[in-house]
Amino acid sequence: MNCKDAEKKIPYFLSDELDGGRLEEFIGHVESCPECREELSIQFLVAEGLDRLERGSNFNLQEELLMKLEDAQRRVRLHHTLWYVLIGLEAAVALAIIVALYIVFQL
Ligand SMILES: [Zn+2]
Repeated sequence: MNCKDAEKKIPYFLSDELDGGRLEEFIGHVESCPECREELSIQFLVAEGLDRLERGSNFNLQEELLMKLEDAQRRVRLHHTLWYVLIGLEAAVALAIIVALYIVFQL
C-alpha cells in the first residue's frame, strides 16, 4: 500500500469500516510510515476532538488513538489465528476422509 492509498483509507479506519486484509495493509503501512501516522493522528484528533468538544467530555486523544491502533492489530492477529484454525480444520477433515477411504477400500 502506498501513501496515497493509506491516506484515502484513514476515514474508513476511523469509522471502523476496514477489516481483514485491508485493515492489515493499512495498519502495516501506518506503522512503518511516519507521514501517514501523522496524517492519521491529525484526522483522528480533528474528528474525535470536535465530537468530544461538542459533548464537553474530558479526553486524552493521543492515548485513544494508540488504543484504537492496538485494537486494530489485535483484530488483525485474530483474523490470522482464525485463518490458521480454518486451514487446520480443513486439513483434519481431508485427513479423516483419506483415512475413511483407506479403511473402506481395505475391507
Ligand atoms: Zn505513507
